[in-house]
Amino acid sequence: MHEMSLAQGILQIVEDTLAREGGGRVSLIRLEIGRLAGVELDALRFGFEVVCRGGPAEGATLEVDEPEGQAWCMLCSKTVSLAAVGEPCPDCGSHQLQVTGGTGLSVREIGIMADGAAPPA
Ligand SMILES: [Zn+2]
Repeated sequence: MHEMSLAQGILQIVEDTLAREGGGRVSLIRLEIGRLAGVELDALRFGFEVVCRGGPAEGATLEVDEPEGQAWCMLCSKTVSLAAVGEPCPDCGSHQLQVTGGTGLSVREIGIMADGAAPPA
């Protein structure tokens, strides 16, 4: 499952960060997943929950920003927004589009609580 390996990759980044910060528990993970990234969010959330089980990121809040897709329209000579790969240009209906944004997946923020610290009020 594609999403399961993504989840493992994200957890790896989280654990590396945790090791660098000297430990603690992960309270929040903010991801940015473009609408054109082809990621099934529900599957990713489920996979992430599974790979985090029993580790320092178990129970962390997963927040996901979904920037919209962007493409360069060769006929309009401008950047247009794109709801999905394969959609035509919303302005002129052309399919001569070059996808330029909204395809990436990245970890934007990792919230770490010190071990033994009181949870935030
Ligand atoms: Zn166009």
